[in-house]
Amino acid sequence: GSTIGILGGGQLGRMLAVAASRLGLRAHVYEPAANPPAADVAHRVTTASYDDAAALTAFAQSVDVVTYEFENIPTSALDLIEAIRPIRPNRRTLAISQDRVEEKGFLNAIGLATAPWAAVNDAAELESALGAIGAPAILKTTRLGYDGKGQARIMTPEDAAAALTAMSGAPAVLEGFVPFTMEISVIAARALDGQVAAFDPGENVHRDGILHTTTVPARLPPARRSDAVLIAARILNALDYVGVMGVELFVTPQGLLVNEIAPRVHNSGHWTQNGCAVDQFEQHIRAVAGWPLGDGSRHSDVTMENLIGDDIDRVPALATEAGTAIHLYGKAEARAGRKMGHINRIRPRG
Ligand code: ATP
Ligand code: MG
Ligand code: MG
Repeated sequence: GSTIGILGGGQLGRMLAVAASRLGLRAHVYEPAANPPAADVAHRVTTASYDDAAALTAFAQSVDVVTYEFENIPTSALDLIEAIRPIRPNRRTLAISQDRVEEKGFLNAIGLATAPWAAVNDAAELESALGAIGAPAILKTTRLGYDGKGQARIMTPEDAAAALTAMSGAPAVLEGFVPFTMEISVIAARALDGQVAAFDPGENVHRDGILHTTTVPARLPPARRSDAVLIAARILNALDYVGVMGVELFVTPQGLLVNEIAPRVHNSGHWTQNGCAVDQFEQHIRAVAGWPLGDGSRHSDVTMENLIGDDIDRVPALATEAGTAIHLYGKAEARAGRKMGHINRIRPRG
């Protein structure tokens, strides 16, 4: 049996480890923090920092392939691991997804539309970017942002100085504000041999910058739905990608714009756990382990809802709801804004 190395022991690592176990594989999780969610279910856990060369080496040697649950793994750790075992998805994709300027440049270079954007490193660049793009706009740090953190809205040019201050000197990108009618995402997979499969696009609703619900099917005409899937396939093929990717898109009357890509299983793909025979976690493990992809066709309509912070108190009531599957991450402390679990409400396919 093979062992899958997973960098990161959060809820995504936990659900990947469950999927690996169901396929008769072992999961070895590497995580700096003690008692992470994945520790309950993984075959083995290494608790060590990403600059512990000896621990990283031993980890890599103990597994057959290495994957990850988050993008921001230090380059030095990846260099060390890659000298020993393959990393899937690949390094190029990680580098692109870690940096919004690289990401948008790549997407535009393969012919995909994004919001208008410009790299911004100082007040003069912000002024000229605002001149070209106009307000409203959003200034985002190029690296390390998630759940809407590291972003500042510029409603009028007078907001520019405060927005730049909010970046704390970090390199940024200015994006034109997209008046989207809907946000969707495509969770797509590509196998070692190039086979591509995509789950049905999901319709996403955010609350306070954090994903609140994903609903399938997205309320889109069939032509837009296939546009979305074709965009995802083009990205995966261009990157010679192996694994599952989340592709976030804005729907506008003029067509689809790519917001960002995540080279991993994605929160907006959790509905697949109860909507498909093979979910995103199994699909990812299959791909990185060199298996053929499974059947990700959708058998039910689903609404996934995140349980954040105090939402965890709703679990006793949710537990008696018909058609509701509960997925909890085993986190002890329900801090505000913390993802504690999610539910999938399923309905017969409409
Ligand atoms: P994630 O947790 O998905 O990684 P993130 O912090 O990387 O989030 P984005 O996905 O870039 O941030 O933005 C978060 C949300 O803010 C988007 O889902 C969308 O609702 C809104 N948003 C971001 N960029 C734009 C834009 N250019 N125009 C309009 N809305 C936007
Ligand atoms: Mg992001
Ligand atoms: Mg996002």
